[in-house]
Amino acid sequence: MNGQMMQQPLLISSFIVHAERHHAEREIVSRRVEGDIHRTTYKELAARSRRMAKALAALGVGLSDRVATLAWNGYRHMELYYAVSGSGAVLHTINPRLHPDQIVYIADHAEDQVLFFDMTFLPLIQAVARRTRTVRHFVAMTDRAHMPSAEVAATIPNLLCYEELMAAQDDRYAWPSFDENTASSLCYTSGTTGNPKGVLYSHRSTVLHAYAAALPDSLNCSERDVILPVVPMFHVNAWSLPYVACMTGAKLVYPGAGLDGKSLYELFESEGVTFSAGVPTVWQGLLAYVEANHLKFSTMKRTVIGGSACPPAMIRAFGEKFGVNVLHAWGMTEMSPLGTACTLKAKHLALTQEERYAVMAKQGRAVYGVDMKIVDDQGAEMPWGSETSGDLYVRGPWIISGYFKNEGGDPLVDGWFPTGDVARIDADGYVQITDRSKDVIKSGGEWIGSIDLENIAMAHPAVAMAACIAAKHPKWDERPLLVVVKKPGAELTRDELLAFFEGKIAKWWTPDDVIFVDAIPLGATGKMQKNKLRDQFKDYHLPTA
Ligand code: ADP
Repeated sequence: MNGQMMQQPLLISSFIVHAERHHAEREIVSRRVEGDIHRTTYKELAARSRRMAKALAALGVGLSDRVATLAWNGYRHMELYYAVSGSGAVLHTINPRLHPDQIVYIADHAEDQVLFFDMTFLPLIQAVARRTRTVRHFVAMTDRAHMPSAEVAATIPNLLCYEELMAAQDDRYAWPSFDENTASSLCYTSGTTGNPKGVLYSHRSTVLHAYAAALPDSLNCSERDVILPVVPMFHVNAWSLPYVACMTGAKLVYPGAGLDGKSLYELFESEGVTFSAGVPTVWQGLLAYVEANHLKFSTMKRTVIGGSACPPAMIRAFGEKFGVNVLHAWGMTEMSPLGTACTLKAKHLALTQEERYAVMAKQGRAVYGVDMKIVDDQGAEMPWGSETSGDLYVRGPWIISGYFKNEGGDPLVDGWFPTGDVARIDADGYVQITDRSKDVIKSGGEWIGSIDLENIAMAHPAVAMAACIAAKHPKWDERPLLVVVKKPGAELTRDELLAFFEGKIAKWWTPDDVIFVDAIPLGATGKMQKNKLRDQFKDYHLPTA
């Protein structure tokens, strides 16, 4: 017997329809590439999204055609989130920090038809425009007054102006209804090895993920929030915040290209931001700026930090110095991205602050909808609540079942997706990521978790950034080598730093050596590129060898 409830497909357009109807006057504020602060409302954004949907149809974009963006976080990018996906096409958000060769590769692989770009990326567009094979139109996301000169425009085939496309349409457009399993957006993983692979989200997976992301023990968003997504809209749909904001009616503040500490801080204060989200490296810049200028956050209460391990020292700095609660979260492109979020359980409320920090340093509990397990080398499920870590497997309705165009074959093992992360899970279900499997250090057959070592190093007041990699060792096979960037002006020796590990970790986990460097290479999403460090130090001779 079937239930007798309405059959309504879960569609992305429903977010903007809801926001327009129930939160029409709530603001969306953007720092624009043009240099000013732009203000709009859900009402206007909804109308402009419909106009842009008509403009796309006029350009010949049809169901499931791919439309690419190379853009910062801003209202025009958000209009495209709805215009493209809402009309049944697929939004392909390209990471502009990728190498031009990679951009050409993924635009071709995705068979992008139209490519929208912020003016910042004009030189990049000039470099790739004549090399891409399927893009029929390039659209500069600006008005006529800010369009490139005729000379520059001549270097880009079929260059169009965003505001002119918009002006040519009215907003009389009804969002179409279609199967909720239709593809909605496409994101390529950064592909530290091999070519990037496409992760193709559906309307259904995106809507279900947004419900779960907004929950109190996930991102906990409401109409009363003012959300500033630092995490780029080209990085896994900005962790779903452009959807969650519409769903809840929160005010949105988009930072555009201004991701330095000063620009971010100004927006936090002027717009009354209550909640933000980003990778640890961004927060480092913000914290450094706020500390150096003796500033305080007057409205910011919470921030989610994920994408790579958030050092416990950062959670503490935010909490103790600024009264900002850090929500540590874990996920990946293949998971839309949210897998776990770290909030306390009722039983933790009686703990001391110190003990609570220890819980908050973990990556957190699975959000409803994500099922997880850890397995050993033989693929056998391991118990929770032990100190041993295993390979982390996940499954759920917003987790990948196969890469775009079946690149790389079937990624699943018995219906589970192997995340490539190594983790332990405690008796309460809190996950602690100890490594990416390709970063694991194998010393005498035993695993050493590089993230644990980095977290300890990062707690030293003189350390700005630390990466721990495996270095070759004749006896142990591999031993940990710590690569460290000191804070500006700070003094620190190898021995002082190694002494700092004493008592904090099993003695045999202590790194064998420390190398001080000026900078650690960061990837396109702001994460440390340990593969580059491994290459750089592949012949490093450890003093213990
Ligand atoms: P890429 O880094 O290849 O761009 P993702 O952005 O999807 O791809 O990154 C996902 C990976 O980032 C995870 O598999 C995990 O290794 C790492 N990661 C994400 N969040 C955390 C976290 N809170 N702690 C530790 N590692 C994390």
